[in-house]
Amino acid sequence: MADYIYTMEIRLTPDQLKAVGVVQDVARAAGMNLYLTGGAIRDIISGFTIRDLDFTVQGNPLKLQKDLEKGGAKITAVEEDIRTIFLTLPGNARAEISMARTERFEKTGKPPIVTPATIHEDLRRRDFTVNAMALSLNEGSRGLLLDPFNGVADIETKVIRILHNYSFLEDPSRLIRATRFAARFHWQLEERTQARYDAAKEGKYIDHILRSSIGHEIAALAHEDDPLHVVKMLEKEGWLEILHERWTVAKVDTNGISQLMKTRQQMVDMGYTPDAGPAVMYFLTSHFSDKDVSDIQKLIPRKDLVEAWRDIEDHAKQLAKRLMGKEAATPSRTWQLLSSARPEMVLFLAVTAKQQSVEQKIKNYLTKWRQVQQKLPLPEMTELLITSQLPEYPKLAHEVFMLLLDGKLRSRTETLKFLKPFAPPPPPPPPAPRRGRAAKAAAEAPATAVATKLGPKAAKKAKGSVAAATPAAPPAAAAPAKVQARAPEKPKSAKAAPKPSKPVAKSAKKPAPKSSSKQTKPKKKR
Ligand code: ATP
Ligand code: MG
Repeated sequence: MADYIYTMEIRLTPDQLKAVGVVQDVARAAGMNLYLTGGAIRDIISGFTIRDLDFTVQGNPLKLQKDLEKGGAKITAVEEDIRTIFLTLPGNARAEISMARTERFEKTGKPPIVTPATIHEDLRRRDFTVNAMALSLNEGSRGLLLDPFNGVADIETKVIRILHNYSFLEDPSRLIRATRFAARFHWQLEERTQARYDAAKEGKYIDHILRSSIGHEIAALAHEDDPLHVVKMLEKEGWLEILHERWTVAKVDTNGISQLMKTRQQMVDMGYTPDAGPAVMYFLTSHFSDKDVSDIQKLIPRKDLVEAWRDIEDHAKQLAKRLMGKEAATPSRTWQLLSSARPEMVLFLAVTAKQQSVEQKIKNYLTKWRQVQQKLPLPEMTELLITSQLPEYPKLAHEVFMLLLDGKLRSRTETLKFLKPFAPPPPPPPPAPRRGRAAKAAAEAPATAVATKLGPKAAKKAKGSVAAATPAAPPAAAAPAKVQARAPEKPKSAKAAPKPSKPVAKSAKKPAPKSSSKQTKPKKKR
């Protein structure tokens, strides 16, 4: 049972996991049962990218808005009729929370009659078996997977299957969804589903699609990993013109979108999480008139997507202008400017920049300049005890990086010279070695141990070989030795340190607390 929670935890991004935590706390505080549902479960199980988190609550999620906002969520759209809220949580984690409901379709082309329901009833109104699963996030049943239509089996056999024969008739947007999922996952429609699909196509069910569904399907394109492929499949099936009568692949800036997806992947590999959605929409509709773009935007329920898409060109222009000005006069300043810019804008400008200097700067930011970071002399810094444990380390490392970027530190020697004054004082020396009988006994210990196995003669020989082997310590042990050597200000301890030529003394490095205090006393007197 708990396996699915484990799978969820390893499959979600850290930001998505935090988002689950926020929603879970808010729902629990409100006394509502909460489930992770739909595509999120499908993607967790199948191993595909989890694009957004679909939650279902037994109750009205509209009541949770304030608490969700307190938890850091931004509500981006609300659909009162089906009691669904759309939100974005930190790190661009998109989510929707819907009310568990039944839908009764009484008239073709008219919205269904919606009634609050249990999660089990809710799963029956879903589009495909692979989307009709729910994972309980509730105390007592946490981790329980509800899979009434055996969606797991369909994921395994990679098929898309409707739940009943009237599925496409009731909601023709499922035809578009079927094509979209088949294109995205490269899965097949199950045989009977395919037959129903063909019949629905022939019967022109699509003419009855709801306007609101068109908006959802357009918005869904924004978050596809390979939007061009999906759009091509939609065009082939005749669905692209349903989303807008003049939409064809010819309206898409195919080169732009390919570049965009490549750069996005590059940024993701670097640890950024840019929301490529607005830029994807920009390129998918590049060759449309402004009026047509505006008409498409009006259909989309998520207003944050629309706003970001509308502003994308202006914001990119502003960033380009700053990149050409004094603010970006040096590589270090450019780095700082681009690091503080929204990753979405860096992504979009990387693909659309018209000025060569801007293009070059972004290119350097994403590639060449990152390699400069590797010029930090980390081993020597460790020897100087300049490590991430120092509170000022991030600032110092950043400063060195900036100087390296600007060519103000041109060699390792120069960098170390700059860093040396920041080295913290070395740690106190190791306790002084034992003297007298205790040291002798300890020094003889290894040989004695060998002697018991080899007999006294062989032990004599072995004593010599143990001593000879000790200096060949692993390389890791060499670093602290050097650090100790940097302690001229404490001559007493330097004297007390064991001479490297007498490796036997090493075993005497572990004094009992008593004997070490014995030794410090006379030193003080001296
Ligand atoms: P994606 O990965 O594109 O987000 P998804 O399956 O999660 O895919 P959403 O649009 O996020 O799709 O919807 C969430 C869930 O709501 C779906 O998995 C499905 O269970 C249900 N759903 C969405 N649209 C429909 C529909 N038209 N008919 C029936 N169920 C639907
Ligand atoms: Mg989803």
